[in-house]
Order: sequence, then C-alpha cells, then structure tokens
Amino acid sequence: MAALDIRQIPVLKDNFIYLAREPKSGAVAVVDPAVAAPVLAQAQRLGWRITHILNTHHHSDHVGGNMEIKAATGCVIVGPAHDPDRIPGIEIALKDGDTFDLGQARAEVFFVPGHTRGHIAYWFQGSNALFCGDTLFSIGCGRLFEGTAQQMWASLSRLRALPAATKIYCAHEYTESNIRFALTVDPDNAALRNRAAEVKALRQAGRYSVPSLMGDERTANPFLRADAPEIAAAVGMTGRDAVEVFAEVRRRKDVF
Ligand code: ZN
Ligand code: FE
Repeated sequence: MAALDIRQIPVLKDNFIYLAREPKSGAVAVVDPAVAAPVLAQAQRLGWRITHILNTHHHSDHVGGNMEIKAATGCVIVGPAHDPDRIPGIEIALKDGDTFDLGQARAEVFFVPGHTRGHIAYWFQGSNALFCGDTLFSIGCGRLFEGTAQQMWASLSRLRALPAATKIYCAHEYTESNIRFALTVDPDNAALRNRAAEVKALRQAGRYSVPSLMGDERTANPFLRADAPEIAAAVGMTGRDAVEVFAEVRRRKDVF
C-alpha cells in the first residue's frame, strides 16, 4: 500500500488546498483548488506533475482553479456524480461507494450531502487521510446551504465511524471560532478543553490546526456529539432525537 505525500497550501482568507502525491506512480492530485497560481507554483517547486483534480463540491472556493490548472497540466478532473453541472470540467463522476485510484492509492467515496446537495468526501484508507471539503471541520461542520439537518447528521455519522487515526484534511481553518462556539454547548467536555488549549498553542506558534484526528473530533466536536446526553441537556432538549439536537446546535452556530 502506497501512502500519500500530502502538502497543505493555505490560500484566500482561510482555505486549504491539498497536493497529494502517490510515490510509486508519481500521480499527483490537487484537492479543491480554490485558485490555480499557488498550486502550480508549489507543484513546480516540488517537481510534481499534477495528474488529477479532486473536487468535493461545487463552491467557487473549491473549484475556482479547475480550468486554469487543467489548461496548464492536462490533468483529469474528478468530482461528485450528483452535481456534474456545477463542477467545471468534470470528467470522472463519483458516487457513494465508488473507489478512485490515484496511482496505487485507493480512495473510497462517501456521498455526504448537507452543506450542498452533491458533496462527496474521499477516504484514502491506506494513508489515513480523509478529504472532506466543507462537511466536517475541526470542532465544527459546514453550514446547511442545500441540505437538511437529517442529511448532514447522517453524513457526519458516517464520517465519525472512520478509524480514530484518520487525519481530517478539511478545507478551512475555522477551528478557533468553532471552539469559541463549541464551549457554549459543551463547556465541561475535557476533550474539547484539551483541543482548545492545543489549538491556541498551534495558532500562537503560527501553525495550522488542520489536519486534526478523527479520534479527537469524535470526543471534542459537538456536531459529532448530537446524540450525547450532555449536548442535548445544554440546549434544553434532553431525551430528544439526535437529528433535532443537531439541528438546534447548527442553528445556534449560524447566529453565534
Ligand atoms: Zn463550501
Ligand atoms: Fe468552502
């Protein structure tokens, strides 16, 4: 099994683009290129030849660089089968349960609607890497622009079941503000407090809080804990269904 060499490119205000190279074949994927120039520059510096673009969803801060990178490299554009009309240049359309091989590294595809109606995530099991776009963030989750709370809770519940060592390569550095909110609905959670201290130290050192680990998110991220009694109690919904609790927590974050 060939593990990916993954590089993080911060762009715009708080976006991350990822470059992932499979060493045996030399195949290189760009995940969610918001823009093209920094990606092409970094690939050139590394001596990496971009062979694919992997898109998680159609928002411009995830596909904005597609056509320019394709024009410069001739790479193949891969994205969600549920949303082909909104992914510029899409050639390979993936649906839930499909696999995608980047050289010898295999990704399993999850359909994770909620943030948008077509959103997918790529899980490279052999590299413990999850590229989840704007579905799951560290201590947060994406806004419900096109999906329901029920869909998003189902999507997050599937991601939550991945191995604890899974690294979450999400598309934004939102963690500090997510933590400020999370402490309002889960103030006594020691895992959350630990994560808060860790992130504060990372950010003060000028480092990113992404990727985080699924094992930490499972215990510290309130959006993965809508079925925990403490969260229901904190929002005054003891005994209610996880979907309803999730919807309320998400609603509160929207106006935080
Ligand atoms: Zn988005
Ligand atoms: Fe985004």
